[in-house]
Amino acid sequence: MSSSVPVIPHFIGGRRVEGTSGNYADVFDPSTGQVQAQVALATTEEVRAAVENAKVAQPAWARTNPQKRARVLAKFVSLINDNMQELAELLSSEHGKTVPDAKGDIQRGLEVAEFATGIPHLLKGEYTDNAGTGIDVYSMRQPLGVVAGITPFNFPAMIPLWKISPAIASGNAFILKPSERDPSVPLRLAELAIEAGLPAGILNVVNGDKVAVDAILHDEDIRAVGFVGSTPIAQYIYETAAQTGKRAQCFGGAKNHAIIMPDADLEEVADALVGAAYGSAGERCMAISVAVPVGKETADRLIAILKPKVEALKIGAPTDPQVDYGPLVTQAAKDRVLEYIQIGVDEGATLVVDGREGDVVGDPNGFYVAGTLFDDVQKHHRIYQEEIFGPALMVIRADSFEDALALPSEHDYGNGAAIFTRDGHTAREFARLIDTGMIGINIPIPVPIAYHTFGGWKKSGFGDLNQHGPDSIRFYTKTKTVTARWPKADLTDAAGNHFVIPTMD
Ligand code: NAD
Repeated sequence: MSSSVPVIPHFIGGRRVEGTSGNYADVFDPSTGQVQAQVALATTEEVRAAVENAKVAQPAWARTNPQKRARVLAKFVSLINDNMQELAELLSSEHGKTVPDAKGDIQRGLEVAEFATGIPHLLKGEYTDNAGTGIDVYSMRQPLGVVAGITPFNFPAMIPLWKISPAIASGNAFILKPSERDPSVPLRLAELAIEAGLPAGILNVVNGDKVAVDAILHDEDIRAVGFVGSTPIAQYIYETAAQTGKRAQCFGGAKNHAIIMPDADLEEVADALVGAAYGSAGERCMAISVAVPVGKETADRLIAILKPKVEALKIGAPTDPQVDYGPLVTQAAKDRVLEYIQIGVDEGATLVVDGREGDVVGDPNGFYVAGTLFDDVQKHHRIYQEEIFGPALMVIRADSFEDALALPSEHDYGNGAAIFTRDGHTAREFARLIDTGMIGINIPIPVPIAYHTFGGWKKSGFGDLNQHGPDSIRFYTKTKTVTARWPKADLTDAAGNHFVIPTMD
């Protein structure tokens, strides 16, 4: 461990706890390339300590009535709002997204916390009166106990809040394993939750890598794991959780297509695509990375409009209010994007704008890549089949609506897809027929609102319950169904008298 930078600890039993493993990961300032902190990596024993704390605290929290739990969440929401600027700057300093974009990250998480304040209503069960003569049937939803969330670097506030809020509102205790790339905001969220009145032990944060993740997966007291990250890890977590008997929902990578019909307003489309493809340096699971114009004329016009817009993007320090996007999260992430640009060139795609050569106003050691635009990409190209997760948009041309529709439907990933058209029938056909989980109609990034659910299909999502909305409550609770019969009490005593008021005699 380097002694010159701060060390980011864990949060267990309601307070910050130093790591004991002696293992640390570097946390960078992506805008300068410098190490700004180190984060402790938890051992199996440290994860176990968090679970023990959670296990002790959980029963009393589950007995606390849902209205009171909702009040704690409401206070939590209010404290996050009070601390929005500080949280956004902290988030931006480790992730590299601009401060306004960091506020959006926090805001989309807050909306799910707000949704979870409706927990008294959300937990109401079902009731059937007189299912058989004198028999009533009702169901209730109960918490699972101790549950966990493992989250990615790209939304260090939003995705932890998507997991924490429904889980604790439902009466569970929670173990969060955030990304080791940007762990500070999740830690601050845990502190704010305690300030809001959450009992110690109900929300624990263990920082770490595969060791901590495996400890979570093999801990017998953890009943469910919610994961978001890349597809190979999502699949690993889903399979391992199944082997260890845990409920799991695991969301993976993406390759989101936007189909552009000839009747669309191409100026508007180009603006939407530039925001959706390059915002947050393309490090969004709902970023549009593939544009599919239908017909040669649409494609030629679209490229002509897009090219100057991509070249005009301003890339620089995330604190600079003038920039469109900041650096990538790490040098490794930057190298990966540069490698894919070369792969695209080698595969024969047309490099319309080369992000390796674009202007960047920022520290030369920062992890910046300027906007890249490819044309004439083919289905068999690796740059089309694989997730790049950077500021690169590719155009794959289609001759007809049917050909365009087949592309996202046949792709391994199935997170989101969008269509731009003025024709209602085409849009309706698109929404009904396409094989992906989230659809945008003239909306480039169709992230559903908090009270609907969020989830991709195919290799973008393993498990059948989505994130946020009603599914999130279902995921973090189990149903109990009661079948009850109450025969009429015989209130006649041995002497044949009827008691008006029964007594204990
Ligand atoms: P990642 O898979 O590298 O890491 C995600 C989490 O898994 C982190 O907490 C990390 O510590 C842990 N992890 C990493 N390697 C592991 C291993 N070998 N064993 C066990 N755990 C491991 O993902 P990332 O780079 O942090 O995030 C970017 C990815 O997340 C992209 O693929 C993006 O598309 C995806 N993502 C998907 C969604 C969605 O909703 N589908 C949302 C956001 C991000």
